[in-house]
Amino acid sequence: MAELAIRTYGDPVLRQVAQEVEEVDGRVAQLAEEMIETMYAAPGVGLAAPQVGVRRRLFVWDTGDGRGPRVVVNPRIVETSGTWTYEEGCLSVPGLFWPITRPKDVHLVGVGLDGEEISIEASELEARVFLHEVDHLDGVLLVERLDPDQRREAKRLLAERALTPAAGDPDGLGQLLDPLEAKGIRGVVGRRRSPR
Ligand code: ZN
Repeated sequence: MAELAIRTYGDPVLRQVAQEVEEVDGRVAQLAEEMIETMYAAPGVGLAAPQVGVRRRLFVWDTGDGRGPRVVVNPRIVETSGTWTYEEGCLSVPGLFWPITRPKDVHLVGVGLDGEEISIEASELEARVFLHEVDHLDGVLLVERLDPDQRREAKRLLAERALTPAAGDPDGLGQLLDPLEAKGIRGVVGRRRSPR
């Protein structure tokens, strides 16, 4: 099994709507295994296929609840309720976190690698992972879930990062974090947060 390269902000694959998986076969199972390995290595608590350049509707997750890594193919969110604000990050937008309000409770359906139907009612962190990963399958990044002020700042920072990676700071994070903090946008590398 090989670890896969995680695509990051600016890669067009992250903006494309992924296609349904028509048949859950050995190739899908192998992809899922490699995605799990990649997720753990990152580390993160969720990873969607487009994040490794595959335009298919599946994601893997492990919120650390002891149930181990899990996979859902062709997931759909059929019901949501409540609201919950959580400081959310993304492996494809590395190093940046924003408080984002989304539904608190989510009902997810889909198919497992064994072809059996999956139906999960999740809350808080697991629900957040489901919403975040299904967004990835629809070509939506968390940047689009920010409020207008946060979003303006995020776009500016991400554009700066793309244009001016400094020598000795190849990912450009050093110059990003200070302005973020100055704006009161919390969140930064090293916090005990789990990007997805
Ligand atoms: Zn993500």
